[in-house]
Amino acid sequence: MSLLLEWFAAHGRHDLPWRQTDDPYYIYVSEIMLQQTQVERVLGKYSLFLERYPTLASLAASDEEELLALWSGLGYYRRALAMQACAKECGGELPRSVTQLMKLPGIGRYTAHAIASFAYGASVPVVDVNIERVLRRYFGLTGKQKEVWQKAEEFLDFAHPKEHNLALMDLGATVCTALPKCEACPLQNSCRGKEEPLRFWDKKRKEREKLTLHFALMRKGSKIAFAPSEGSMYRGMLLLPKIEPTTAPIAHTKHNYTKYNIDAYLYAEEADGEFIWLDRDEIASAPIPTLITKLLRAASSKLF
Ligand code: SF4
Repeated sequence: MSLLLEWFAAHGRHDLPWRQTDDPYYIYVSEIMLQQTQVERVLGKYSLFLERYPTLASLAASDEEELLALWSGLGYYRRALAMQACAKECGGELPRSVTQLMKLPGIGRYTAHAIASFAYGASVPVVDVNIERVLRRYFGLTGKQKEVWQKAEEFLDFAHPKEHNLALMDLGATVCTALPKCEACPLQNSCRGKEEPLRFWDKKRKEREKLTLHFALMRKGSKIAFAPSEGSMYRGMLLLPKIEPTTAPIAHTKHNYTKYNIDAYLYAEEADGEFIWLDRDEIASAPIPTLITKLLRAASSKLF
């Protein structure tokens, strides 16, 4: 057994629920949820999601509003809508081939390879952000992602492709991190980038764009006014009505969402338009993004 697989047997994240199954749908759900979302967050939603939508057919028949409400807290809501579209298109079963998988809505190269490897045991490489970091350092790569995929293919352990991919993923997540712990790494004796690991992985992340949003808190009895999101950001979700404020805010919150660093302010002002009025219980089950629940929490002493 290779040093990498020995390390994986002893230190891999074997307890993750999506590691306990080879059901393609369950693995597909986990892979979509894990895109740009921390494992801890996904752990809080994964089982709930599968209880509510245990099969592709149930996801295909899902109500959009209910689906988005269940997705709330994971961010990048377009993923949930793409999953629903994918479930409708694939007729109850995910295809086995990478090419066919990549024809489905929301399934790119990484997800197709991950499903093929983790569910079907296919001999295909997988390159997520963790694996890319390991491979760039291990082979001393500074070129485009295409080069990383090529090396991933050459490096693949064809006798144990699934374990090899999972091992690299876990190594990147726990050892070859932004500041790598090379002394604990099973690849340290043959790693080309070990002397200068930061040269091969720029840990500085692109600065997020600043965005300021102003919302109105409008009340009717125990209900609060919401309005469907306009535009692609938070599509299908309910936000508070947007306004151009003329008074001082009554609450403020900060929130990172996709490429934005958002400052959201809340005002006791009236907005124009038609609204959906929800009480506390209805808010809890409505498709309302984390930005808005954080803002309402910040103003909680003035609510209900
Ligand atoms: S030796 Fe260090 S830089 Fe190289 S793969 Fe291991 S943790 Fe990463």
